Amino acid sequence: MTQLFTEIDRVRDFLHGQHGIGLIPTMGALHQGHLSLIQRSRCQDRTVVVSIFINPLQFSPGEDYHLYPRQLERDLEFCQGLEVDAVFAPNAQEIFGLTQSTLVHPPAAMTEGLCGRSRSGHFVGVATVVTKLLNIVQPNRAYFGQKDAQQLAIIQNLVKDLNFSVEVISCPTARDNQGLALSSRNQYLTEAQKKIAPQIYASLQAAQVAFKNGEKNSDRLCQIVINHLADLPELALDYVQVVDQHTLASIECIQDSAQDFALLAIAVYLGKTRLIDNILLN
Ligand code: AMP
Repeated sequence: MTQLFTEIDRVRDFLHGQHGIGLIPTMGALHQGHLSLIQRSRCQDRTVVVSIFINPLQFSPGEDYHLYPRQLERDLEFCQGLEVDAVFAPNAQEIFGLTQSTLVHPPAAMTEGLCGRSRSGHFVGVATVVTKLLNIVQPNRAYFGQKDAQQLAIIQNLVKDLNFSVEVISCPTARDNQGLALSSRNQYLTEAQKKIAPQIYASLQAAQVAFKNGEKNSDRLCQIVINHLADLPELALDYVQVVDQHTLASIECIQDSAQDFALLAIAVYLGKTRLIDNILLN
């Protein structure tokens, strides 16, 4: 039976003395992408906690904070079906009180590029709330999706820098059968946009094929993505870039060495909806 908690003290009471806690932080509107994280935790943790919190700190003015899908009843049923032990779904006041005076600033080198360029303050919001959730739930493991690769790298770095006693588990991107990365924001897409959206991943795959055929130059790989999307005026490119998946530093030329983890990352606008995706090249 999944128990719902909205208060920090109550969820702490419930978890007190428990070992083997897995935490899956989410913003709700749960889908098959979240499912893969929850199932992974269910396999290895004794107590599975899903947090559902639409974090106002990580939305800039003009972004979709007020539009973001809120469907707690449905999410609870979803969690019930996956044998989640606890859903922690606080409101903003419970998490921040009247104000949040301490903020967690990840290194600028990790936050200023990629999504950070058009979402200023986003990763300070993410890092601050993840820090608070880790302190509240004190999990042994916390699960994050590779789909949000910049977020994942920043959290891995945060956990290391701040000595959190938690293992960060990175989970592969779940896609629909057309290749589109699952996202709560896919709900915003019209039927016509849904037909176009799989081209985002197809463009990354085209670059990956070129990489496997010997193209190691990042600019040229990005150009393959741009060319692939050029015939789709509905898609407006925000960025496409090759970065090191751990440091997020830009990579100009991908070495063959096994130490290089080159991530090809993209963000596009499809109408007003911003979609992100990425692929590991090596
Ligand atoms: P969100 O609710 O969008 O904030 O996502 C919560 C967690 O689920 C994050 O760690 C995401 O990276 C992860 N996630 C979201 N979509 C997917 C997906 N399609 N595949 C894998 N993980 C995902």
